[in-house]
Amino acid sequence: MSLVRCNECHASIPVPDSLQARTMKCSYCGAVVSVPDLAEREAAMLERRRLEVYERDLAIAAAHRRDEAAREAARDHREHKERRSSTRWGRVFTLTSMLLAPVIVSITVFDLPARLGFGDAGQDRLKIVAAQLAERGCHVVVPAASLYATGTVSQLVPPAAAGQAGCLRVLAAGGPSHTALTVRLFDLDSKAITKSESSSDPQAETCVSQEGSLRYEVVLGVAAKGRLTHMAVRCPQAPAAEGASAPPAPSAPSAPERRGKKR
Ligand SMILES: [Zn+2]
Repeated sequence: MSLVRCNECHASIPVPDSLQARTMKCSYCGAVVSVPDLAEREAAMLERRRLEVYERDLAIAAAHRRDEAAREAARDHREHKERRSSTRWGRVFTLTSMLLAPVIVSITVFDLPARLGFGDAGQDRLKIVAAQLAERGCHVVVPAASLYATGTVSQLVPPAAAGQAGCLRVLAAGGPSHTALTVRLFDLDSKAITKSESSSDPQAETCVSQEGSLRYEVVLGVAAKGRLTHMAVRCPQAPAAEGASAPPAPSAPSAPERRGKKR
């Protein structure tokens, strides 16, 4: 502790240690004098304040950096999770589309129009044959029906009305993808009566008088699918074939007919 002399009474006055002190009071005469090292004290005070501000700034910057780092870590974590999950979904979608693509392409490009009912179903060819048969006195018992088929088509034929006995003839015609259709006829016991040749427009006929309903099937070629048309007519029995069983001639009239139409 340093001492200074009082200006008034020359008593010794201890200089206060505190930096904030700017004046001191003589304890003998009560005179107030300023501290001797006021300029140094003020400089020290300024320096201390500057240091305080500097330290506060440092602390704020450090806290800011800490917050920033925490936020960044959280963001990284979130992004990593999102990336991982999006990668997983991406993989699932890729696999699914790889599996589905050929199916979609085949349906869209090759099969969809047929499924929607567009394109040749053979109905034009069948109409011409039916018109010819009508001239011969045949009448329709199962109207022509066009459909998209991927498997055997089965159809019931109502029994002939009294006085309408004759030969039942089943006609079928396929679109471009059906080149090996077969028509098969079955009796009431599901016993096969007759079967046509394999062709793009087969016909099968039976002249045996039947009681009850008959049934016919249009059998597709291997792996064939597409549109086809089928119908059944009942024709008066030709006088020459009286008493004879089903003549094996059904495919004969259709062959020249088809050629005539196409070329
Ligand atoms: Zn004094």
